[in-house]
Amino acid sequence: MEEYNIKTKVVGVDISNETTTYAVVDIRGNILAEESFATSDYPDVNNFVTVLSDKIVMLVEANGGYETIRSIGVSCPSASSVSGCIENAANLPWKGVIPLSAMLRDRIGLAVGLSNDAHISSLGEYTFGSAHGMKNFIVISLGVGIGSCFFSAGQEHQGNLGYAGEFGHTCIIEKGRKCGCGHEGCVESYVGANGIVVTARELLEESDKPSLMRQAERLSPKIITGFCNQGDELAIEVYRRTGYILGRALANYASLVDPEAIILTGGISHAGKWLVDPTSESFEAHVFGNLKGKVKILLSKLDDRERDVLGASALAWSVPEYSLFK
Ligand SMILES: [Zn+2]
Repeated sequence: MEEYNIKTKVVGVDISNETTTYAVVDIRGNILAEESFATSDYPDVNNFVTVLSDKIVMLVEANGGYETIRSIGVSCPSASSVSGCIENAANLPWKGVIPLSAMLRDRIGLAVGLSNDAHISSLGEYTFGSAHGMKNFIVISLGVGIGSCFFSAGQEHQGNLGYAGEFGHTCIIEKGRKCGCGHEGCVESYVGANGIVVTARELLEESDKPSLMRQAERLSPKIITGFCNQGDELAIEVYRRTGYILGRALANYASLVDPEAIILTGGISHAGKWLVDPTSESFEAHVFGNLKGKVKILLSKLDDRERDVLGASALAWSVPEYSLFK
C-alpha cells in the first residue's frame, strides 16, 4: 500500500504579555480550533511550559490527534529564531534567557520553531495577508510600542545582532518628547498609543475649540477614533498631526529600502482613513522622488491575533520535522 504523509496540520502559538493563544491550523491556513489563557497566570516559566504543553496536547487530541501534527510554531516578544530562546523580555513575567523552543520540544516531542512577534506578524502578512505575493515590503505594528519588520527578496532582514527594525526608536523630532528608551524625539513618543494621547492633550490646551475630547473621562486612540467618526475637528486634527509624523518617518524608511508596500497593523491602525490619509499625504511629500506614487500604504486585512497565530503556523511548516520516537 502506498504510504502518504498524514501530518497535515501544525500548531501555532502566540504569546503576548497579556494572552497566550494556541491553535490547530491546517496547511491552507484554516484555524480548526483555538484556545487561550492569561500569560500572567504563570509567573514561573516551568509551570507555563507544563500547562501550555498539556493544553496543546488536549486541543490536538480533540482535533484529529497527535499523529496528524507536523510541528509547532511560536511567536513571542524578544524571542530569537537563531538561539530558540526568549532573551531578556521587558514585558513578560519571565526574566533572563529562556530556552523555550527546547523546553516545549522536550515536553511535547515535536519540532518547535520560535521567533519574535514582529517577524511572525510579517510572516502572517506574507503567507496569508496583505503582503501575499510580495518580496520586498515593510510591516509596521502600531500599538503602545511601534515595531517593524522588513522583508527583502522574500527574507526577513534581521541585522547583525537581530535588532533590525527598531523603527519606533528612530529620532524624528529634534529635542522632542522624552521616550521610554531614554532618548528624545523617537517616532514611538508621537505615534505610539501614549504619544497620541499626549498630542490630544496638547491640542486641547492650544485651542479653545469645542471638542468631545474635553468631556471624555479618559482618552485613548480608540476613543479618539470614535470622536473622529462623529466629525470632531480636534480629534481629526490629532490623527492629522500623528499621520504627518508617521508619514515622514515612513518616507525615510522607504527611501532607504525601496519597498513595494508598507502594511500598517496593530490597534492604532484601526483608526483607518483618519490615520492613513494624512500619513500617505506626508509620505508622498517626503519620500525620495523616484519612489513617489510607487509605494503602497496598506492596512492589514487580518485580525491581529489571527494573523499572529497564522504567522506562527507558517513558521511551524518551515522547521525540520522532529520526533522523540524515531
Ligand atoms: Zn525611543
